[in-house]
Amino acid sequence: MKELPKAYDFRGVEEKWYRYWEEKGFLKPKLDPKRPRFSVVIPPPNVTGKLHVGHALNTTLQDVIVRYKRMDGYDTLWVPGTDHAGIATQNVVEKALAKEGLSRHNLGREKFLERVWQWKEEYGGAIIEQLKRLGCSCDWSRLRFTMDEGLSRAVREVFVRLWEEGLIYRGDYIINWCPRCHTALADIEVEREPTPGHLWHIRYPLADGSGYIVVATTRPETMLGDTAVAVNPEDERYRHLIGKKIKLPLIGREIPVIADKEVDPEFGTGAVKVTPAHDFADFEIARRHGLPFVKVMDEDARMTKEAGPYAGLDRFEARQKVVEDLKAQGLLEKIEDYEVVLGKCYRCDDIVEPLLSKQWFVKMKPLATPAIAAIERGFTRLIPENWKNLYFDWMYNIRDWCISRQIWWGHRIPAWTCKDCGEITVSRNTPEACAHCGSQNIKQEEDVLDTWFSSALWPFSTLGWPEDTPELRLYYPTSLLVTSFDILFFWVARMLMMGLHFMGAVPFRDVYVHALVRDEKGQKMSKSRGNVIDPLIMIEKYGTDAFRFTLVALAAQGRDIKLAESRIEGYRHFVNKIWNAARFVLMNLDGFEKIDLTQAELPRESLWILSRLSKTVAQVRRALDEYEFDQAALTAYHFFWHEFCDWYVEMSKRFLNEGGEARKLAQNVLLEVLETSLRLLHPFMPFVTEEIWQALPHEGESIMVAPYPKPVKEFEDESVEAELERIKEAIVAIRAIRADYNIHPTADIKAIFRAEKEESLRLFEEFSPVIKQLARLSELVLQKGGERPHGAAQAVLSEAEIFVPLEGLVDIEAELKKLAKEEAKVLKELSRVKSRLENEGFLKKAPKEVIEKERVRRKELEEKLEKIHENMKRLKELT
Ligand SMILES: [Zn+2]
Ligand SMILES: [Zn+2]
Repeated sequence: MKELPKAYDFRGVEEKWYRYWEEKGFLKPKLDPKRPRFSVVIPPPNVTGKLHVGHALNTTLQDVIVRYKRMDGYDTLWVPGTDHAGIATQNVVEKALAKEGLSRHNLGREKFLERVWQWKEEYGGAIIEQLKRLGCSCDWSRLRFTMDEGLSRAVREVFVRLWEEGLIYRGDYIINWCPRCHTALADIEVEREPTPGHLWHIRYPLADGSGYIVVATTRPETMLGDTAVAVNPEDERYRHLIGKKIKLPLIGREIPVIADKEVDPEFGTGAVKVTPAHDFADFEIARRHGLPFVKVMDEDARMTKEAGPYAGLDRFEARQKVVEDLKAQGLLEKIEDYEVVLGKCYRCDDIVEPLLSKQWFVKMKPLATPAIAAIERGFTRLIPENWKNLYFDWMYNIRDWCISRQIWWGHRIPAWTCKDCGEITVSRNTPEACAHCGSQNIKQEEDVLDTWFSSALWPFSTLGWPEDTPELRLYYPTSLLVTSFDILFFWVARMLMMGLHFMGAVPFRDVYVHALVRDEKGQKMSKSRGNVIDPLIMIEKYGTDAFRFTLVALAAQGRDIKLAESRIEGYRHFVNKIWNAARFVLMNLDGFEKIDLTQAELPRESLWILSRLSKTVAQVRRALDEYEFDQAALTAYHFFWHEFCDWYVEMSKRFLNEGGEARKLAQNVLLEVLETSLRLLHPFMPFVTEEIWQALPHEGESIMVAPYPKPVKEFEDESVEAELERIKEAIVAIRAIRADYNIHPTADIKAIFRAEKEESLRLFEEFSPVIKQLARLSELVLQKGGERPHGAAQAVLSEAEIFVPLEGLVDIEAELKKLAKEEAKVLKELSRVKSRLENEGFLKKAPKEVIEKERVRRKELEEKLEKIHENMKRLKELT
């Protein structure tokens, strides 16, 4: 029989097995149409990414399910890949260029893109290697990149088809614009921040000289672009002014007073200025009323020539100047303090401007409708279910998706504008000429597509679409998507829409939405807080298995994970526990001969552990099927540590020592439980389980492709479990007495079991060998009813009492003296704490935490005192 080294050293072991799995091809699917299939696409990390704890959780959960399904006989495919991450990657390369004193504009588009590709080849794979260290069992031969050839083809195909269907259009639209990054931003890329600001009340004179209207605004410089003043039609104050003209101050343009239901009479004065080119709500009002759009700010957030005397000023200078001029003309009625919500660019933090510009859009309503139905009808399940509400809320209020980005790194929009006829040609292949007039004077769109456009196609583009591949037919729809909630809309909803539209089927059956990983106090991890837990450092320190197990054990549905390094350290003890148990079993396997346990006549202790094993297997499977990751991990943990190691391994020593048939049976049971537990634990802890499994007698090449355990109904036995519970209860009670009375651990003691029922006594008699063994009894006396023994410690069980005569074991006088001393110490400390807590000055001045600490201390001391008194009482009763 093989022997395991004394201590488990994960270093070397992890790499060794990972290489073995890859070489043996276990990570690859079989493309076998006869087997049930299980497929997953990885949420592609950014090529700029470095593995953080969020990825670690995300991919570990996927790997747990993928390994479970693979072992359970499914033909399993897990497709890996990375995302080109448009703006993020471009920024990284631009920063590197800046260090060389260069910019992308110096280089030009082509040279710049060469640099980005170069960067991608050199650094873009780092995260992939890190995922391998985590043990992820992806099929790396199918590694995809959102800008590789196949995926780029899919992107073009989708763009062209949507254009042909009239679902893509180019138009003026008000968008979020970052003047520094020079790009449009999606709503979700704008961080909204409440900031102290002002509300300026400005007088707008009526053109006929009959008076003025006061409008209130938080952005006075935009007044230069006003094309109306709007009031609510129900507002009595303004009804007589509707239809009149205003002479716009500073600019002199005449604009109308209009009525619109959306105007809130409670805001400011109830009359609002309308600036369609620089405000989202005003854009909509202008569309409803056919107002002109006057753009007074350009892409650099400088004032345009439409801004008259303010042309060329930066937006903040313009604000100052406009306010000064209004004041000078006596048109500024008042300035109030007012909290404004500033939109900031998620990349560079610059203030975002709502700006009118030409952009490309996808019409979302027609795509959203089937995606709403798919969730409503349960074709795709969201887990936990409560994410549905947010999903519907978003989908019912969906706006058209602005898909163009003014950067270079990404899928360039396949549209060519004709300089002669002005028409647009959209094409799968680069066209030679304008499709409308035949002119060769055409120019491709400069913009690229939003990064999320290509990732929205991920579940089918990675399987070969638009080709009709065997992979696509076998593995689409995929079985499961594991994602964090923050990209539920960015990504998951869009994959649903695109999948339904182009494949006619949902892209995944189940979507498991996991929570955030926070620090142990529940705070967000961030560099500035210094509370970041780096997965690679944890793996280095504690091994991958301990790290993975911790993440899974903490992954309760719908609750954020509070991760502390101490938890990982704790689960490393579990890894060691498994190792030590395996060592014990291996050391006792000499002369091992395999027998069929379902046919054997086994002692009740062995029947008990086999029954527990079967039920544990069933529970772990159920939890995995329901994505109750924490329950799955903790159930397996509890069984292995607190039932197998704490009880059965101890019990088995008696049988092993007995030799003969008893030993043979015990060897078989130990091995059965250990080997099954390893397979049960493999999805959580792939490395240590493989290392041990390979040392045990086993069938097959790897635990990773061994069958996942199934419950064995023949082993399940309620009555044996109930019996063993009672026996364990008795042993625990005697151990507690030993501890309470400070009885030396090696001292042999006598115990008297008193019960009324014959049946209880029979049970204790039957199990007396194990009770004697594990409670260290020299003698076990069974007594039916009768007198309570004198001078004995007592424990009450369900349907029985246990007495341990203490004569000769405990020096009662000495024990009492010891307790009295302890009592005095506690009383002194307690009175100090109490007087502090009664001190008004202390209660007033001390910080809350300090007071709270003292209160906790008081409670502890009171409990300790109570315990001392109980012990004294018990000892006195013995004399
Ligand atoms: Zn920016
Ligand atoms: Zn043309």
